Amino acid sequence: MRRKLVVGNWKMHGTTQSNASLLQSVAAGVGQGADVAVCVPFPYLSQAQSLLQGTAVTWGAQDVSAHAQGAYTGEVCAAMLRDFACRYVIVGHSERRRQYGEDDTQVVAKVKVALAEGVSPIICVGETLEQRERKLTKMVLTQQLDAVLRGCGVEALAQSVLAYEPIWAIGTGSTATPEQAQEAHALLRARAATADVSVAAQLRILYGGSVKAANAEALFACPDIDGGLVGGASLVAEEFLAIAAAAQ
Ligand code: PEP
Repeated sequence: MRRKLVVGNWKMHGTTQSNASLLQSVAAGVGQGADVAVCVPFPYLSQAQSLLQGTAVTWGAQDVSAHAQGAYTGEVCAAMLRDFACRYVIVGHSERRRQYGEDDTQVVAKVKVALAEGVSPIICVGETLEQRERKLTKMVLTQQLDAVLRGCGVEALAQSVLAYEPIWAIGTGSTATPEQAQEAHALLRARAATADVSVAAQLRILYGGSVKAANAEALFACPDIDGGLVGGASLVAEEFLAIAAAAQ
């Protein structure tokens, strides 16, 4: 039985003041039936740690350097995330793949450095609209997952979370239907099972792409959807809490 997980991806939003009320409201409102986490911008990790420690909500980052340490101006390494007790780090988000040219080689390196510091990567995969229309979804998802399986080994997947994020649904307001999402999740789980059946059975695969309170329940009811990676809706406490409640 996989415990559901709902993760907020704040992206590049927030101030010390607005975060304080959001973090406090989320911590005060979550139930016990599912895991809940927020991935905040780097400067606010300390604030998330101090406001969330001792609560049911865990925290994490949205990216990590592929390098362990050294002369990499502007980068943040996994040991630093561990220093702030991060539970998770998002790796290979489509915004990073697209806007910063992050490729599967870097994703593999980031998964490795995160795991070496005990931070669980949330590995994002997903197809563009054009790829979906050209019926390439299966090929794209398989390639992205295979890169991690080949580069990190299936043991890495046992310590990770996978997120299926169709790029056409991210921040667009158009969500994959539960049937479309379930089909992709089942495909990913079946692919992971070719490497290790029991790792695949325990692997949490989150859906991301315009998850809202209004559609969360139908998505989370699908057998292979183990929760959500939530962007915009994670910035509004009541909305995020309603999504978390749908995962209970
Ligand atoms: C995301 O970027 O991870 C995401 C799912 O965003 P949104 O929920 O806003 O579509």
